[in-house]
Amino acid sequence: VGDSIEKSRQEFFAQVNSMLPGRCSVGQDVRQQHSNTMTFVPSQPPDAVVWPVTTAEVSSLVRLAAAHRVPVIAFGGGTSLEGHVNAPHGGLSIDFSKMNQILAVRPNDLDCTVEAGVPLDHLTAELRATGLFFPVDPGAGTATLGGMAATRASGTTTVRYGSMRENLINIKAVMASGEVVDTARRARKSASGYDLTRLLVGSEGTLGLITELTLKLHGVPETILAATASFASIVSACKASTQAIQAGLGLARIELLDAVQIQCVNAYSHLNLESVPTLFLEFHGSPAACRDDFEAFKDIAAIEGGSNIKSAIDDAGRKSLWRARHDAFWAVKAAWPGKQLLVTDIAVPLSKLAEAVTETSEDIKKTGLIAPIVGHVGDGNFHVIVVFDRANSSEFARVEAFLDRLVERALRLEGTATGEHGVGQGKSRYMVREHGAGVEVMRAIKQALDPLNILNPGKIF
Ligand SMILES: Cc1cc2nc3c(=O)[nH]c(=O)nc-3n(C[C@H](O)[C@H](O)[C@H](O)COP(=O)(O)OP(=O)(O)OC[C@H]3O[C@@H](n4cnc5c(N)ncnc54)[C@H](O)[C@@H]3O)c2cc1C
Repeated sequence: VGDSIEKSRQEFFAQVNSMLPGRCSVGQDVRQQHSNTMTFVPSQPPDAVVWPVTTAEVSSLVRLAAAHRVPVIAFGGGTSLEGHVNAPHGGLSIDFSKMNQILAVRPNDLDCTVEAGVPLDHLTAELRATGLFFPVDPGAGTATLGGMAATRASGTTTVRYGSMRENLINIKAVMASGEVVDTARRARKSASGYDLTRLLVGSEGTLGLITELTLKLHGVPETILAATASFASIVSACKASTQAIQAGLGLARIELLDAVQIQCVNAYSHLNLESVPTLFLEFHGSPAACRDDFEAFKDIAAIEGGSNIKSAIDDAGRKSLWRARHDAFWAVKAAWPGKQLLVTDIAVPLSKLAEAVTETSEDIKKTGLIAPIVGHVGDGNFHVIVVFDRANSSEFARVEAFLDRLVERALRLEGTATGEHGVGQGKSRYMVREHGAGVEVMRAIKQALDPLNILNPGKIF
């Protein structure tokens, strides 16, 4: 039986190679690069990588994979953090980077249609001249729109504009049978049938392969006011953030960097910020509304002991104020060269944020780990960037135990194991704890839509 499965696989890869000549690779470096992971999960390369250029080609590849029972793993920008693009059962990595066309921008409808492999940075640059923008910003500009939809990505502006879930109108997808479906029409709202768009959002390539997306666009606001504020403690920074959201201020971004993270960016970006927990904010609206909201924020910050409050409206001033936030990840990487970084995230209800961040901060100190905190605190979501040495087994054990406690804390506080990075392989062990019987409903959906389990097997569950 083993031999006949192997023979069928070999036939499959030979057929893929002749179907897309010059666009299929079995090179070791290429396969390795398509299995990157930033969890503890070791890299598990696919058997081959292929670069389709049309939905029809993706459909033919999936039909062939189904006939030979070979796993297919969609690959966008490869920036996911939880082993999402690993191939634990081998198979074919479908790289969407050559499906990178912006097919239509419709300013009158405030929408656009793009191929799945369009990188976010490319879309942002192309929209610049239109006065419109796509707001979801996961921080990794090489992430593709297909990968962002598949991971239900969000980021710094989600507090105002929502995540991928709120900013998608339609998805064109190849299902496990090879059938091509559009999940919706182009109307901005619809009450027609099950919401297939939202079913595919966050499905991590396990229910269908996204080939095109129609996205909502937003007008660039008349005024953008950036600000920063320092706080003596992480609790006071979190409280100020939560109160600003509760007060309904026109915040488009509100981010927290803890003291360790500020020390890293000071060194990396040659800044001279006070090494204390710091909020980074952005207000969008009319000049008067931005000014009023900023004044209201200053009052809230003052109650929590906020100091050193700075603001800027011009482009250069805003970039300079936000530099520390943008460089956060790279600053940590540079501070501990040769060490591994593990970026993880949890989210809790707003009223529990201060408790979650404080407990986590104390846990880091007690465990003796290096682990700066960076938060999309307006959404009750924060990241911990754990710096560790994989070869040091006792440190590794402490990191694993810390991650378990982090998720347990989030769940105890009515939150989730991941606010935005997704499940992949790294967070699958928490699914039952978080969803209980809901996991069986998810499994039933997977079974119905992908009965042969060929779409990114070994992920989520
Ligand atoms: C420094 C850094 C900061 C980050 N910050 C954030 C953040 O703030 N917010 C956030 O949400 N994420 C963040 N991430 C994680 C990552 O950028 C997102 O998960 C992103 O959405 C992944 O997009 P990608 O194109 O790289 O997908 P990939 O990594 O290529 O794939 C991710 C998953 O989506 C599937 N997939 C990819 N393309 C398709 C497709 N066309 N059809 C179906 N399935 C597909 C893959 O199979 C895989 O399961 C960060 C990552 C880094 C490195």
